[in-house]
Amino acid sequence: SSNAKTSKSGTSTKRGRPKGWKPGMSYAAMRGNPTPKDWSKDRPKQAASRNYGTETRRRGRQPQATGLAIKQRYLRSKPGYLSFGCEWQESTNKRCPAELQNMETLRKHVYFIHGDAEPLVCFWGKCGQQKTPPEFVVKEEFRKHVEKAHLVPYAWHAGDGPQNKGIWTLKNDRNKLPSHLFDKDGKQVTPSVKDQLLEDTKGMLERKRKLREIRRQADENAPDE
Ligand SMILES: [Zn+2]
Ligand SMILES: [Zn+2]
Repeated sequence: SSNAKTSKSGTSTKRGRPKGWKPGMSYAAMRGNPTPKDWSKDRPKQAASRNYGTETRRRGRQPQATGLAIKQRYLRSKPGYLSFGCEWQESTNKRCPAELQNMETLRKHVYFIHGDAEPLVCFWGKCGQQKTPPEFVVKEEFRKHVEKAHLVPYAWHAGDGPQNKGIWTLKNDRNKLPSHLFDKDGKQVTPSVKDQLLEDTKGMLERKRKLREIRRQADENAPDE
């Protein structure tokens, strides 16, 4: 053929069997390319195909990274989860040590742990550092203040955090069908597998037997032509 390529050194890198080749001869050597080893001397049978060195390669796909490797990769990535620290000042230099996982649990913590005192005083952040922290008579007012002055700005800053209640959503809404079964107008277009009866082999054979019997009777009772 005419599409022989020539390498920088001027030697041919043409593929295929060179002219004048005989079993036991190296293709590369015939073209003037250096070979890592002259296989033609002691390994005549392999010379034709083994002129790329002594490295042995496994054929086919290399074994994939296992589950352990994935776990190691995960740990190496040092996943960082923002913690939602409570900023309630328990005393002059002591902050509440609670670290919550998201905004919702932080809110619950604040109202449950700090929002039940008598009288109701806000010690969150700067409120807690004031000489006379704001005091509230009505719980509603206390909550309104904590919400507006502290928790809402906190949420702007930190976001809502991870929502870790997927399984509870499912448990609470057992009878609610998943939204992907409905079209955009809310009409169910795909039947649900919920409460679907499964047929075992015995039941399947019994059903077929009944069906055969019905067909037989239908044939028997069919009017003569
Ligand atoms: Zn706290
Ligand atoms: Zn406050």
